[in-house]
Amino acid sequence: MSEINTLAGADAGPSAAEAAPEITFADLGLAPELLRALSDMGYSKPTPIQAKAIPLVISGKDIMGGAQTGTGKTAAFTLPILQRILPFASSSPSPAKHPVRALILAPTRELALQVFESVKDYSKHTPIRAMCAYGGVDIKPQIAELKKGVEVLVATPGRLLDHVESRSVSFNSVQALVLDEADRMLDMGFIPDVTRILKMLPAQRQSLLFSATFSDDIKKLADTMLQSPVLVEVARRNQVSETITHRVHPVSEWGKRGLLIKLLKSGEIRQCIVFMRTKQGCSRLTRELQRAGIHADAIHGDKSQLDRIKALDAFKAGQTHALIATDVAARGLDVDELPYVINYELPHVPEDYVHRIGRTGRAGKMGNAISLVSAHEVGYLVEIEKLIKRPIEQVEIAGFEPEPEYEYPPGNKRKRSPAPPPKAPLAHKPARHERSERRPSPRNPMIAADGFDFSKPYEEAPRGEVPDSPKPPAKADPHKPKRVVAALLGGLGRK
Ligand code: AMP
Repeated sequence: MSEINTLAGADAGPSAAEAAPEITFADLGLAPELLRALSDMGYSKPTPIQAKAIPLVISGKDIMGGAQTGTGKTAAFTLPILQRILPFASSSPSPAKHPVRALILAPTRELALQVFESVKDYSKHTPIRAMCAYGGVDIKPQIAELKKGVEVLVATPGRLLDHVESRSVSFNSVQALVLDEADRMLDMGFIPDVTRILKMLPAQRQSLLFSATFSDDIKKLADTMLQSPVLVEVARRNQVSETITHRVHPVSEWGKRGLLIKLLKSGEIRQCIVFMRTKQGCSRLTRELQRAGIHADAIHGDKSQLDRIKALDAFKAGQTHALIATDVAARGLDVDELPYVINYELPHVPEDYVHRIGRTGRAGKMGNAISLVSAHEVGYLVEIEKLIKRPIEQVEIAGFEPEPEYEYPPGNKRKRSPAPPPKAPLAHKPARHERSERRPSPRNPMIAADGFDFSKPYEEAPRGEVPDSPKPPAKADPHKPKRVVAALLGGLGRK
């Protein structure tokens, strides 16, 4: 691929807005209209990716951005792009004065809408027009809006191609292209669509590619779309925010629902996103929670776009206690100060754990990741611990014990009597004597019993197969000694 100039160090934390305290937005050369918008939003200083990327993009460079959600990457590309098209901004109502100058492609409708909201926020003191084109809704209003003229078009690839076919969009004036979450585009099979779109754009343009990971396929894509790119990386790949507390509750498969209800009714969890692997599971759990008197709603691919937007808006407005989501639907969701993410089921691809919990602990805020892990999921847990390079605290809740087969570390089966079904009431805090307790291991928590070192970099396992049957991968995989503390409810606070 074309030569990449590495600019930034790799370890500036994803949420370390404090990491560049001496730099202000004004130092980055942003226009007064944009500075005013930033001040309206209460942003006092740029995050590391913003401090690094904004001047480069303003100077016209192509960027390969290694940054996950939560780093402030949306503003890192949106602000300088707005700055570059600002000289062409016009207050004229004539559509001819508002050609598409910046195209931002996002893999999901939710992410596209969020980027669009950011564009609107940052451009509110300018005459620049923006719109969002995504599928699952009537195309006609979008065509009408495009005809009136927009400078910044945020779109999902499929719907953008629909607009190309209906001749409602022209790319002649596109100066800047952003491909956001390129790795997810790849996972979702959008790369052929993206490649088609790339071929329609003017060759003379600025291109920015953002991705949380850089596989060979992403590098190939970068090669086709970027010219002498500068690599701007602020978070090491698969690094999780330091502001997130992780906890596992070992629990039997059939005890999960009762435990979740108990957790939600404990009063500690103001709001949370609960992750499931399947759409059907999402709907079922949502109904069960609603029956238990919990304000829950589901967000997954089978819901209409309107229902998904409504569910998200209600959640953001604090009207929903628990939003039950699949990985795809939740990708890129940005909910201000979301305190908890709960994995009702562990993902089968460890990287998805990092994406899921990235919904909390954003922009330097504190967050909590809770995983309900049953016996068959221990293998996935081990993979996740390897990826995030840290052991996760295990806390058993009395009355919600795991199956007798629960083996952690794998191969270290302990004797237990079968867990009894949970008895009502679910919504009370357990008394001290109800809490089970295990002793912490005296070993170095970063070195597993078999010598596996959690402080070493993760080596990615081959991806692709996500089995349907609940089977743990790599049973003989290395692991760490369990760190267990007293079970706590009402004590789910931060470390
Ligand atoms: P992103 O990584 O773009 O999804 O942004 C993560 C969150 O950080 C969003 O809620 C942004 O509104 C917020 N954010 C972005 N830049 C800043 C900043 N400079 N200061 C404070 N919050 C920010």
